[in-house]
Amino acid sequence: ALVVGRRVRSRRKWKRVVGVLKELEERCETTVGRLKQVVDAMAVEMHAGLASEGGSKLKMLLTFVDNLPSGSEKGIFYALDLGGTNFRVLRVELGGQRSDLDPDVEQQPIPEQLMTGRSEDLFDFIASSLYQFVEKNDSVQSPITKLLGFTFSFPVKQTSVSSGVLIKWTKGFAIRDMVEKEVAGALQQALIRKGLNMRVSVLVNDTVGTLALGHYHDADTVAAVIIGTGTNACYWERTDAIIKCQGLLTTSGGMVVNMEWGNFWSSHLPRTSYDIELDAESPNPNDQGFEKMISGMYLGDIVRRVILRMSEESDVFGPVSSRLYLPFTLRTPLMAAMHEDDSPELTQVARILKDVLDIPDIPLKARKLVVKICDVVTRRAARLAAAGIVGILKKIGRDGSGGITGGRSRSDIKMRRTAVAVEGSLYTQYTMFREYLHEALNEILGEDIAQHVVVIVTEDGSGTGAALLAASHSSENVNNIQ
Ligand code: BGC
Ligand code: MG
Repeated sequence: ALVVGRRVRSRRKWKRVVGVLKELEERCETTVGRLKQVVDAMAVEMHAGLASEGGSKLKMLLTFVDNLPSGSEKGIFYALDLGGTNFRVLRVELGGQRSDLDPDVEQQPIPEQLMTGRSEDLFDFIASSLYQFVEKNDSVQSPITKLLGFTFSFPVKQTSVSSGVLIKWTKGFAIRDMVEKEVAGALQQALIRKGLNMRVSVLVNDTVGTLALGHYHDADTVAAVIIGTGTNACYWERTDAIIKCQGLLTTSGGMVVNMEWGNFWSSHLPRTSYDIELDAESPNPNDQGFEKMISGMYLGDIVRRVILRMSEESDVFGPVSSRLYLPFTLRTPLMAAMHEDDSPELTQVARILKDVLDIPDIPLKARKLVVKICDVVTRRAARLAAAGIVGILKKIGRDGSGGITGGRSRSDIKMRRTAVAVEGSLYTQYTMFREYLHEALNEILGEDIAQHVVVIVTEDGSGTGAALLAASHSSENVNNIQ
C-alpha cells in the first residue's frame, strides 16, 4: 500500500508539472493572428514616436546619419564598439572602392566592476586599450588626427552625428554618473588624458553601424536589427515622416532612425508571470519590456524561473537546488546548448543541469521537460522579433500590403527586394532561434512576399559600420562624394 501511495503521489506531482508547462505554453502562444497584432502595434507606435517627443515607448531617436557609406570612402579609420559583454577596437583601411573589408579587430571582456562603477574609470580603461591597439598598427605620435567611430549601444539622445547624451542604461550597465551626460565627450576627454591624437567623429548605436555595413554591401538594405545581449532596430526614414522635427532637412531627404525597440510595449504581447517577476527584480523595472522577452541577457533567466517553479511544486528535479534562486545563473548560451542537445539520452542537458544549476541525476522525462521549456521560451522570442521586423516593413510600405487594391491578388504585387541586416549571437549562434524567426517571417508575410525579403548577417557590422560612417561623415569624404 505504501508503494502504491507513493506512486500515486508522484503521478499527481508529475501532473502538476505538466500543468505548469501547459500554462507556460498557453501564455506564450504566438499564433499568426497575434503576431499580426504585434506587427500593427509596432507600426502604430513607430508613427507615434515619430510624431512627438515622448509620444510612444518607442523613442524613435534621431541619429543625424543622413548618408550611408557608398564604397567611395578612402583612408584609415578606427572604431570602438562598446555595449554588450565585450568591447572591440577596430581599424579599417578603405581604398575608395567597395571591397570585402578585412578590419583588424581586437576584443576584450569588460571587467564587471567597470560596468557599475565610475564613468571615468570605464573610459580610461577603454582609452588605454585603444592606445595599445593604435600603437601596434600606426604611430601614436603622428600629428595627423585619427578619426574614430564610436559605437555606443545604449539609448542616446543625439545632438549631432558626433555627440549625444545617454538617456538610460540597459543590459545590466549602471554607471550612475553617466546618465544624461555627453557620451562622445567623455570618451574624447579620456583620449586627451591618454595623449592619443584621435577625434570621435561619429557616435552611433550598434544598429546604425550594422545598417551602414549592410548598406555598403547591399544597397537594398533598409533596416538593421540586433538580437544579442540586448535587442534593437534602426531603419532608413524619410525626413518628412519625422514629424517631431519639422523642418529637418538633409541632402539625401532621409535619416536613420534608432527605434530603441527593446522598450516597445503592447498589450498584445504574450506575457507570463515569469516575465512579470523578471521585470520587477531587474535593475530597470517597467523598461525594455520587449527586450526582456527576446534578448540573450534574459532568455536563460526566464527558463531558470520556470524550472524553479516546477521544482518547488514537485520533486521531478529532486530537492529544490539553491542555485535556482540565483538570478542569471543559467546563461542563454547554455540554454541554447540544452535546447539543441540531440543526443538520445540528453547528456548535455544532464551535464548543464548538474554543473550550472546543481541539479544532478534527473530522469530522462524531466530532461525532456527542460528542453521543452527552452523551446517555448525561444520560439516566442524569435517569433516576436520577426513580428517586430515586419512592423518596420509595414511602416515603410515594404510588407506587400500597401498595394492590395481592386481584386489583385497578393502575388500580383510588385514587391521590391528588401534587405534587413541582422547581427547578434541569438540570431547567428542559436540555430533554433534563427529557424523560428524565419518561419514566422514566412507565416506573417506569406511566402510570396517573404521571398523578396532577405535577411543578411553582417559580421562585426556594429564596429566596422561605425568606421565606415566615420569615413562617410568626415568632411574630406563628403566632399569627394559631392
Ligand atoms: C540598447 C540599444 C542597443 C541594443 C542592442 C539595447 O539594450 O538599448 O541601444 O542597440 O541593446 O545592443
Ligand atoms: Mg554588440
